[in-house]
Amino acid sequence: MNLKEKYQNLADQAIDSSKLSKDPKDRLAAPARRLLKEEYVIDVHVHFFDIQCINKCYFVKRFLKDQYSRLVRGKGFAPTGIPDNSDMQENVYIEGWEEELLKELQVLDDPNKAELIGIRSPLRYLKAAKFLSMDKMELVYQDYIENYSIAKCLGLAPKNVLTTALMMDLQKGWGVDVKKNIRKRMDELKRLSKTRPILPFFFCDPRRADDKEDNLYELFHEAFCEGQSFFGVKIYPSLGYDPYDVRLWPIYQLCEEYNIPVLTHCGGVTITAELDRMSGYHGETAQKMVIKDAESDPDDKTTKKIDVKDRKDGGNKLNDPKRWQPVMKKFPGLRLNIAHFGGYETWDSDHRPDTDEDLLKRKGVIIDLMEKYEHVYADFSYNIVEDGFTRNLKATLLQNKRVRERTMFGSDYWMVMQEGDLYKQQMEFKGIIRDNDLINELFLTNPYRYLFGN
Ligand SMILES: [Zn+2]
Repeated sequence: MNLKEKYQNLADQAIDSSKLSKDPKDRLAAPARRLLKEEYVIDVHVHFFDIQCINKCYFVKRFLKDQYSRLVRGKGFAPTGIPDNSDMQENVYIEGWEEELLKELQVLDDPNKAELIGIRSPLRYLKAAKFLSMDKMELVYQDYIENYSIAKCLGLAPKNVLTTALMMDLQKGWGVDVKKNIRKRMDELKRLSKTRPILPFFFCDPRRADDKEDNLYELFHEAFCEGQSFFGVKIYPSLGYDPYDVRLWPIYQLCEEYNIPVLTHCGGVTITAELDRMSGYHGETAQKMVIKDAESDPDDKTTKKIDVKDRKDGGNKLNDPKRWQPVMKKFPGLRLNIAHFGGYETWDSDHRPDTDEDLLKRKGVIIDLMEKYEHVYADFSYNIVEDGFTRNLKATLLQNKRVRERTMFGSDYWMVMQEGDLYKQQMEFKGIIRDNDLINELFLTNPYRYLFGN
């Protein structure tokens, strides 16, 4: 039996597909169902995971980047130091890190002390301090609705926004523990979807296909076939795998057949796995794919190696939208959102072509996928923070009808909050797009078509 058959069998045993419906609306809980009858907009890229779903390293990286050395490495403060990923895995879950970090941030009560340790943007630290006390997804959801709802930006009641709720799997990607285990996180999202109009997206990491505990296919079954109310699937290649990994094929097949939308990260590589965690089974013949840095031993015949310069380069290669070409060829009916539309480098006109060429080319690759396949979309999440990127997007939307029909708004709350005032940035995004038809397409009709079909 080859690997393709092996994983198909495992999936068939674990997943009772007779429980799946082809109509995405059958997967909606009551609040989302109700909202569809009102006036509303859609934010297709949102994260509600709380402080207990992540570890200290991830949090500091996201909120307090310029204090990374001081807070994570404990090597004295280096206010301008930009964190790399090298010590990510050292940071195993530490009980009570939230309280400890909160204490560290108390210095903000004293502006002189804040100045002393090089904190130049106290507002961001206050935001971080607030976030540190959110230990339930419900609280994170409320923060989003009260302060950053795109519905409010567009003149509707703040609560009238349908959002995704994207999970992330740091445990498999980094090998670290977090306080709320995977089932707790799934249960909590399920409960939240019973009271709020959210669409939970379940993360699929192919490396869980071989696990006895928290097995990929068993989790998928629980998410979609046991009344868990999950709606879509999240793929995050730079956490260490190839989207064409053969262990994901049974999942894609179900997603294609039952109209389960897939969202893949395709932007920057703030979050990557270590090089030796990056691997997988690639392609029809299911060769072992191994990522190696350029200096390592030459190929042996049984493996397919991707030479990379470093961890960042490895993450970028796995994130490359080209890796979705064979997936789409094999599963042409897949509903795919290529999130971040390649990333901000792709939309930066001040690019340095000599260094960023691959990232710039992503735009063409994604548009090509949109041209070829009926259900390929892209969201512009995170990139909305820069007026220049938005202007480039608008020019493309006006030039290319297909891109105009397939592009969606997404905020990337709360990942994007390190970039400044999200509410203001969203207002600016709306101001630049301006045209009412374009706004209607980005915030409603395109995401609706991606999520529910026509
Ligand atoms: Zn995101």
